[in-house]
Amino acid sequence: MSKILIVEDEEAIADLEKDYLELSGFEVEVANDGETGLARALEGDYNLLILDLMLPGVDGFEICRKVRDEKNTPIIMVSAKKDDIDKIRGLGLGADDYMTKPFSPSELVARVKAHLARYDRLIGSAREENKIIEIRGLKIDTTARRVWVNGEEKNFTTKEFDLLAFLAAHPNHVYTKDELFSEIWDMESIGDIATVTVHIKKIREKIEYDTSNPQYIETIWGVGYRFKM
Ligand code: CA
Repeated sequence: MSKILIVEDEEAIADLEKDYLELSGFEVEVANDGETGLARALEGDYNLLILDLMLPGVDGFEICRKVRDEKNTPIIMVSAKKDDIDKIRGLGLGADDYMTKPFSPSELVARVKAHLARYDRLIGSAREENKIIEIRGLKIDTTARRVWVNGEEKNFTTKEFDLLAFLAAHPNHVYTKDELFSEIWDMESIGDIATVTVHIKKIREKIEYDTSNPQYIETIWGVGYRFKM
């Protein structure tokens, strides 16, 4: 469930916003002054902040700026003054949206939902972009198909990369050469399980410090190989 923090000193407004958001299925907390709001926004794990501009103590400008220094949580700033909204928009404080009070609670709910969805997409696509496996100095970017050993990039052939990425994606799982061959090479291709041995040897030469004592791909005698976690 998405958790929302409302920082608002006018309790009637805060209560109204809270009621509507809770009815829409959100978990909501309210802070009635700037200091409490800032502390909670920085420490808590919220999915979105609704931030009033004029607050006793620390104002909305400052809260927005400080939160942005540390977090990407979506922020909707609200103010009773249209002029203030224009001003903060111009300052580029990093708020995601601005609303002038009074606004209808359903409009607030709609915007909250839109920002949460947008943020999820953003996080989701960032994850998509970087499918990276990192184990003890070995870094494999499975999307860009690049490999680094202690920060130094190494070049791999297509099959070498496929084999390494497959093993690293299934750490501690022991695979037979037959299994690896059918996984990485299509069955029509020329070759046999000796191909697997040859490729493992080449991969080790690129990633292992000492190929006679491999730290990543371990030989399980009589069975096959496993990637050590
Ligand atoms: Ca206020």
